[in-house]
Amino acid sequence: MTQLATSLVSGLTPAHLRFLEGLFPGEGLTVAPAEMAVYGADSSRRAGMPWAVVRPRTEEQMVELLRWAQAEGVPIVPRARGTGMSGGAVPAFGGVVVSCLLMDTVLDVDSEDFCAEVEPGVVTAQFQALVQKRKLFYPPDPASLKISTLGGNVATCAGGMRAVKYGVTRDYVLGVRAVLPGGKIVNAGGRTHKNVVGLDLARLFVGSCGTLGIFTKLTLKLLPLPEGSATVLAAFGSLGEALEGAREVFRAGILPTAMEFLDAKACWGIGQIKDVPWPASPDGEGATKAVLVLKVDGSRSALAAELSRVEGALAGSTPLCLLKGLGPAEEEPLWELRRLVSPAVFRLGPDKLGEDVAVPRGRTVEAVEGFQAIGAEQGIHVVCYGHLGDGNIHVNIVYDAADADQRARAKACKEAVFRLTLSLGGTLSGEHGTGITKGPYVPWQLGEEERALMAGIKGVFDPSGILNPGKGW
Ligand SMILES: Cc1cc2nc3c(=O)[nH]c(=O)nc-3n(C[C@H](O)[C@H](O)[C@H](O)COP(=O)(O)OP(=O)(O)OC[C@H]3O[C@@H](n4cnc5c(N)ncnc54)[C@H](O)[C@@H]3O)c2cc1C
Repeated sequence: MTQLATSLVSGLTPAHLRFLEGLFPGEGLTVAPAEMAVYGADSSRRAGMPWAVVRPRTEEQMVELLRWAQAEGVPIVPRARGTGMSGGAVPAFGGVVVSCLLMDTVLDVDSEDFCAEVEPGVVTAQFQALVQKRKLFYPPDPASLKISTLGGNVATCAGGMRAVKYGVTRDYVLGVRAVLPGGKIVNAGGRTHKNVVGLDLARLFVGSCGTLGIFTKLTLKLLPLPEGSATVLAAFGSLGEALEGAREVFRAGILPTAMEFLDAKACWGIGQIKDVPWPASPDGEGATKAVLVLKVDGSRSALAAELSRVEGALAGSTPLCLLKGLGPAEEEPLWELRRLVSPAVFRLGPDKLGEDVAVPRGRTVEAVEGFQAIGAEQGIHVVCYGHLGDGNIHVNIVYDAADADQRARAKACKEAVFRLTLSLGGTLSGEHGTGITKGPYVPWQLGEEERALMAGIKGVFDPSGILNPGKGW
């Protein structure tokens, strides 16, 4: 993890506060503790107390803020909607939290260039709906898309269910305009879909977790909107059959838009919340051991045939039940079941450690079976589900945090899951990033040379270490 620079101040002076009041008049500045506490937490359930919260409306304010912060050694923590799962927006060492939510204008949508220019605070789902009206498509679809922003998505390189066919946020960032510590403005990339002049600084910003610069404008790639989509949900009597069915889909030459799976405990939990179409029993040992949910998209005329091909590919794994949906109205109830997995997990216990490891796609069976065995060894519920199509498995370790023994076993589970993931050639995080929560484990995956190189790059962008200290590598 990056070290805290010794030159950073440990609190704001009256002169600092006067500067901030001048730059952010009225509601642009908050120092009320109750309000600031909200800006000190994110969905990782970690929290820290900011010294002040500011809400820039213009790039000029951002430039002036970062010029001042570097000169004074004040930590700066960029923040959007705070849905991050790794504590990326949490002020680990105090400082000024910079909410980017008032910079939320869609500046341009161009159906000739197939790109859009946006400010970072635009909510992802609102942007998708806007471009959709122009028959354009912005594919990255984190499950949080209705509550997270494009700036946050770029800073975390958010992924989603459609990644199996369309890739992740990184694949849609053509350009980044950012303000660096010291107040310099950098323009990386542009509106072209190809660009190999110089190092790819735009992509370096993607996934940088607010540690290199604060984005003020993003140029995003768009695609033509597919005409329609269709969904298949199939339940299986064993995890192996489900995963073999998934392999058969790819072998048949089908590239699904999304390919999600739920393990037996996830299926059981969902059955506790809603009537489910798959055979289940109340103790979690029902006939259904895994469910696959697949989406395909394309031209309306081809979708029915594509559905039949998916059904044919799954037939060899003898699904216990198979449901099909053509078009949003029929598909939605099937996807609703997949979305219920997050609340369903809490039917097994009051607390969870939510990991989002990824393994090479060919190792998913070993990984999921191994994670389940780790849970059985420790006597802890381990629920696996997620993005089967790209090997990104959500591993939820469910326990009771009030019980010291369970806390210790949950931590042992998490570390065993990490060790197995790395032994399979995987990565500790496929989409949520390392932030605070996984920072201590980064050396398990990255070597000294690689971390030193990353620290060197950080030093070039942020020589005083003011930007989002305590995050990263
Ligand atoms: C219910 C739920 C479902 C989720 N599903 C997914 C999922 O499917 N896939 C996935 O990848 N993630 C998922 N997440 C995690 C989270 O939504 C993503 O990480 C998202 O990209 C964070 O966006 P945000 O706007 O909330 O940013 P925040 O959480 O506020 O910030 C995230 C990071 O971005 C930095 N940042 C914010 N704005 C800027 C800026 N303008 N310039 C530079 N850095 C900036 C912050 O410093 C921080 O490090 C989920 C979270 C929840 C709560």
